[in-house]
Amino acid sequence: MGIKENIEEIRQSLQQELSSMSDIKQLEEARQKVLGKKGTLTALLRSMGSLSPEERPAAGQLINAGREMISAMLDARSAALKAVEREAKLRRDAIDVTEPRDLPRVGVPHPCTLALNEVLSALTGLGFDIVEGPEIELDHYNFELLNLPKNHPARDAQDTFYVDDNIVLRTHTSPVQARTMLSRKPPIRIACPGRVFRADEIDATHSPVFHQIEGLVIDKDVNMGDLKGTLDALFKKLYGEDMETRFRPSFFPFTEPSAEVDLTCISCRGKGCRMCKGTGWIEVLGCGMVNPKVLEMCGIDPTVYSGFAFGIGLERITMLRYGIKDLRLLYEGDERFLRQFR
Ligand SMILES: [Zn+2]
Repeated sequence: MGIKENIEEIRQSLQQELSSMSDIKQLEEARQKVLGKKGTLTALLRSMGSLSPEERPAAGQLINAGREMISAMLDARSAALKAVEREAKLRRDAIDVTEPRDLPRVGVPHPCTLALNEVLSALTGLGFDIVEGPEIELDHYNFELLNLPKNHPARDAQDTFYVDDNIVLRTHTSPVQARTMLSRKPPIRIACPGRVFRADEIDATHSPVFHQIEGLVIDKDVNMGDLKGTLDALFKKLYGEDMETRFRPSFFPFTEPSAEVDLTCISCRGKGCRMCKGTGWIEVLGCGMVNPKVLEMCGIDPTVYSGFAFGIGLERITMLRYGIKDLRLLYEGDERFLRQFR
């Protein structure tokens, strides 16, 4: 039998074997039987030693061609078998993505958090640092340094939660301003957000716990015009270029002069609606020039420096921003309410 016939015989028997096999292990055994050390094709290659030097090149070419053809057959069958095995494994391990599961429920930011982030982002954009302070505060920082001496009516025990004679739950975030004035040199430009406490009733507009965002600016030659300019810039940034503010004279112990500030109604943009009781204006905050007595008590020379302060009620801004009519909704944790703010 010639080499060509030998190779053809090996090919035919291999093809028969390949067509009936079902896994990779059988295939590798078949590969060894033909191409391995004791394989049939390897034996054929060895037999070349008995050929004459003239016959060898042609025989070598035939055997190499046969080897390549057989390798290709084996590789093709191997790939097909692997694909079948992979398919079977995928089917075994398949996950039914439509199967109902107890998925964890993802929370949403509280509307006050959304409104707070808006205000703080606008204030930092205007160059304010954000500073926080303790909620349980010394009387000294909460009242005395802010020009609220022991006999002042705003210190009425009805309004303040006392821990003891000298310690209170802070009634405003202003003690953070006092602490900052004592620890930093002007220029100062800070925003103080935080929780405050008053012994108040709970109703649609009152709560014993609420949040303030106070601003304080101290520098040389700061005046009431800077205060109005800053607030105008803040509210235009927050709610649009058509926002305007209007100042009404007021009184606070730690500012002089003081003002209540009205803002163009966010809901009707000044035309008049139920929220603004037809006036086109809504009251949003209190502010004023820092009382020179306060500056002095906090270690800042009032003959060199002046400053302004303002305090925004976070809940009020949130309710105006989202048209929420009842303050209690913000604290009751009713998921049906909260999930509207995703
Ligand atoms: Zn309105």
